Amino acid sequence: MNPNRLLVVDDEPDISAYVADVAEGLGFDVVRANTTDQFWASYSEFVPSVVVLDLNMPQSDGVQLLRALAEKRCGAQIAIISGTDKRVVKTAERLGASHGLKMLGSLQKPVALRALRKILNKGLDETRGVTADELRHAIRDHQLVVHYQPKIDLKSEPHWNIAACEALVRWDHPQYGILSPETFIPVAEKSGLISPLTVCVLRLALEQIGRWDEQGLSLSVAVNIAQQCLNDLALPDAIEGLAKRYDVAPSRLILEITESGAMTDAALTMDILTRFRLKGFGLSLDDFGTGYSSLIQLHRMPFNEMKIDKSFVLEIGVSDEAEQIVRSIADLGHNLGLSLCAEGIECEEALSFVRSIGCETAQGYLVSKPVSPAELATFIQTPANNLELVGTSA
Ligand code: C2E
Ligand code: MG
Ligand code: MG
Repeated sequence: MNPNRLLVVDDEPDISAYVADVAEGLGFDVVRANTTDQFWASYSEFVPSVVVLDLNMPQSDGVQLLRALAEKRCGAQIAIISGTDKRVVKTAERLGASHGLKMLGSLQKPVALRALRKILNKGLDETRGVTADELRHAIRDHQLVVHYQPKIDLKSEPHWNIAACEALVRWDHPQYGILSPETFIPVAEKSGLISPLTVCVLRLALEQIGRWDEQGLSLSVAVNIAQQCLNDLALPDAIEGLAKRYDVAPSRLILEITESGAMTDAALTMDILTRFRLKGFGLSLDDFGTGYSSLIQLHRMPFNEMKIDKSFVLEIGVSDEAEQIVRSIADLGHNLGLSLCAEGIECEEALSFVRSIGCETAQGYLVSKPVSPAELATFIQTPANNLELVGTSA
């Protein structure tokens, strides 16, 4: 069965035909619906991987449809098309996400071909139908690669000092090219492959630290550790052993705890995290403000950094509420003695805002997207980028 199945619903048949045409060109099987009744008639049988829906339809509006999809625990990725005000569309998108739906993004009518292709491609990326076996082979055959995104120190005006960088895994797939972690991390988490994947990323990152050292770039690296890995009491010793083997001081490794599920055993997690800190590793609570990352964790766990989730940071300058949330998270973090990192900085306005509220570090496309190790070294060493490296011997 083709894993890429798209269901489009729009009361304007021309639009659904146009979307169908483009989607088929990208490899989707497509079913078109021009009414919500037709949509529901197809939905259960077709089991779409992507849904494209018109926000304004005569019988039932898109918001009702989103709610109904959430009630059915729809696992498809959802794109919205609309002719109304951009803000309404954005709100609908946020609403979908808050109902737990996987939102792909939105498109304004008249729908531009490039934008449509881009959004559908994103949906395609995440529906490759990757299996656990393929992923197991990929780990074994060294197909996983790591890209690095710099984290800048905001206290270092006027330069952008690179405080550290975050290691973000990619799969260099022989057939599809570079796949984003969102395609395969969920598979790894479901299939018990998250630990071998994490060890693979740690090795690559530790090895890379050594290579950068040889180039005179003294960088710390943050590695993402899924909550699921934190049920193994042997983990702190194992990671310490790896760091020793690669001759990297634990203080140069920051472990970012990512959240994809509720904490199963808080006492066990606390034991493991405390031992990480005692061994000198940095500990960061990733994506604060979303999902399961909770106040309980902050209260009990020995983190030294908190990362404000990009979903709020991306809205700085657009939404007053998002700005208030970012400010409150920063206050909370600072009051608890944590260092604050804002992720998802895409514009100067967001950078000045997070600096003004005292965030210590920031990360985002404004500075750099995640890039290969060689590209990162070039980026840092290019004087025009206004960068300085903290602790560099260069
Ligand atoms: P994360 O740890 O929160 O990483 C930040 C994500 O935000 C990265 O996506 C990064 O490319 C993206 N990002 C950074 N700056 C911006 C920006 O300015 N705008 C926007 N729109 N996005 C930005 P990426 O690389 O696709 O990673 C997604 C998630 O996958 C990560 O979120 C992390 O939770 C997970 N992940 C990545 N590598 C690993 C890994 O080695 N192990 C585990 N367990 N999870 C990983
Ligand atoms: Mg992270
Ligand atoms: Mg994050």
